Amino acid sequence: MSTLQIVRNPATEQVLAEVPGATVEETREAVQRAKRGFREWRALAPGDRATLLRAFGAAVLSHNEELAQLEVRNAGHTISNARWEANNVADVIMYYAGSVERLLGQQIPVAGGVDLTFKEPLGVVGIIVPWNFPMPIASWGFAPALAAGCSVILKPAETTPLSALRLAELAHEAGIPQDVFQVITGVGSVVGEALVRDPDVAKIVFTGSTRVGVRIQELAAAQVKPVTLELGGKSANIIFEDADLDRAASSAPYAVFDNAGQDCCARSRLLVQASVFDAFLERFEAAVKAVRVEDPTLETAEMGPLITPEHRERVASYVDENTILFRGACPEGPGYWYPPTVVGIEDSSHRSVREEIFGPVVVVQRFTDEAHAIALANDSDYGLSGSIWTSNLGRGLRMARALESGALSINSHSSVRYWTPFGGYKRSGLGRELGPDATDAFCETKNVFINTEL
Ligand code: NAD
Repeated sequence: MSTLQIVRNPATEQVLAEVPGATVEETREAVQRAKRGFREWRALAPGDRATLLRAFGAAVLSHNEELAQLEVRNAGHTISNARWEANNVADVIMYYAGSVERLLGQQIPVAGGVDLTFKEPLGVVGIIVPWNFPMPIASWGFAPALAAGCSVILKPAETTPLSALRLAELAHEAGIPQDVFQVITGVGSVVGEALVRDPDVAKIVFTGSTRVGVRIQELAAAQVKPVTLELGGKSANIIFEDADLDRAASSAPYAVFDNAGQDCCARSRLLVQASVFDAFLERFEAAVKAVRVEDPTLETAEMGPLITPEHRERVASYVDENTILFRGACPEGPGYWYPPTVVGIEDSSHRSVREEIFGPVVVVQRFTDEAHAIALANDSDYGLSGSIWTSNLGRGLRMARALESGALSINSHSSVRYWTPFGGYKRSGLGRELGPDATDAFCETKNVFINTEL
């Protein structure tokens, strides 16, 4: 029997909704429905599938404000971020709607006949997402999966199911069949694990912690089931002495404190060349203290609360008062607030330097030269994103090639564009999402030889 899960507003602690927590049996039934949906969806003419996806994208766009407000309430995101997120979902659906008629095979020269390849959809895809960016991350999985002809079961995080449920309604209103796109809510170790174990689920796309990602890969291995894993990060923001220090310092807070640091791409290690350490830190302190941490419904808000009281406790456990260089302010009273915090720790074996804190805490370290910066930046189990600030483009590219990381930017902090690939090195993940090739992750390639000499 289903249990009910309470959903709260992290900025006010008020109860927003109760949603069902599905059982293993209910998950199994959803998979059986998705199997039927898959047969129907893959048989649809490509142009018709594309039309339905475009209608879904248009519905998301026209409900942008409603979806954004829902995410502000459920995830504590600032309203400006939440609007970007809802728009991103519409863009991602539209982009992959355009790939349905472009799932091209090849004709390969062979003797005695013709050789053709076909891209064929995998089947039912389970998409398991975290609470930090509930909407966009879900769409990075479901949009290319649907475009490829797969049916989808989306499992949102326990704390943030509301936008996923609303997206499913919009999909169905736009004409995408119920069995083709389902959302199932519940506990990760029950519903998520049931999806991974189910032999009728052809692929799992998982975004979340490295700990759970490892478990999912182990379980999937028993069935040789493909997985895409987008996991944790501990990315570096590297400031060279020849950088535009004003620009580097004024943007650095947003590279780590955006979404209250609950961002897998957060540049949570700040590496500063020793020769400009003081000059940079002085500018950075002013920028950190200027970050507006406030009610996320306000247009001026730049940072909201953390997701739960337990998470706030976990974040705080990483901060030793003696290491704090300076910190910003945050509201008092209800809500799971935590101030932007800057700590100085030179010992690279310290747990705050090595582990993903996933909150508004940045560790500052200094380096002497390029080789030292590369050694420090790569001294991590993770490799998701990172930034390099320098006015020397040769150095910027040299550094970018030397860093063991999947999504880098030079003189910028951008990590995600829906039309460029995104994913991690090392324990930050496996496979890539977004970009022109994302549909390939939801297809098998079939090779067919036709004998023309009979
Ligand atoms: P989490 O691993 O605890 O949970 C993620 C999802 O997995 C949730 O839906 C949860 O219910 C489900 N789950 C939990 N146990 C499961 C199990 N045994 N089997 C199947 N599913 C299970 O992560 P979280 O705390 O929700 O999210 C934070 C983490 O996500 C951070 O580590 C962050 O870096 C990572 N993240 C990575 C990316 C990326 O693209 N690389 C993006 C966002 C977040």
